[in-house]
Amino acid sequence: MRANTPRHRAVFWDRDGVLNGSVKVNGVDSPPPNAASMCFLPGAAEAVAMLKTAGWLCIGVTNQPDVSRGTRTRSGVEAMNNRVVAEPDLDDIFACFHDDRDGCGCRKPKPGMLFEAAEKWNLNFGAGWLVGDPETDVAAGGAGGCRTLRIAAGEVATAANAVLPDALAAARYILCLENDLGTKRHD
Ligand SMILES: [Mg+2]
Ligand SMILES: [Zn+2]
Repeated sequence: MRANTPRHRAVFWDRDGVLNGSVKVNGVDSPPPNAASMCFLPGAAEAVAMLKTAGWLCIGVTNQPDVSRGTRTRSGVEAMNNRVVAEPDLDDIFACFHDDRDGCGCRKPKPGMLFEAAEKWNLNFGAGWLVGDPETDVAAGGAGGCRTLRIAAGEVATAANAVLPDALAAARYILCLENDLGTKRHD
């Protein structure tokens, strides 16, 4: 008999470079300039759909420090986040609008956005995953009690559970490990 109400399980998704492409600005991977210019990466929508079908919440967690730096508006970021909720069909997305100097608790590698999501969605962190492309995302996931997947084109030094090339590979990995693909062994 369960002592507690069953809790939700979630996959946390980094946004830029994982669900939509990043753009190079002065050689640095950066968010696209606006919502209209966002390009969702091949397989991203399918990855989210597969996980949702298997009972996973899919929640975005994105650092957007350009808002604190004054080079991007909060409403502009929110318009982009609305597209990520509409098109790859995330259940929710949380954004940190701060920079390092703001000393907030939500800027990855800190796990504040994960805790915020856990409270809103009544999540079971022990059953969570985080998928991101910089190592700071992996650190945030680990600090939030999640297992982690690093998206990278080649081999990288990482604390993540695995390195995979894209969102679709990440979704398949999670579903395979959790036994949500093929024969289920759940009661
Ligand atoms: Mg990223
Ligand atoms: Zn923050």
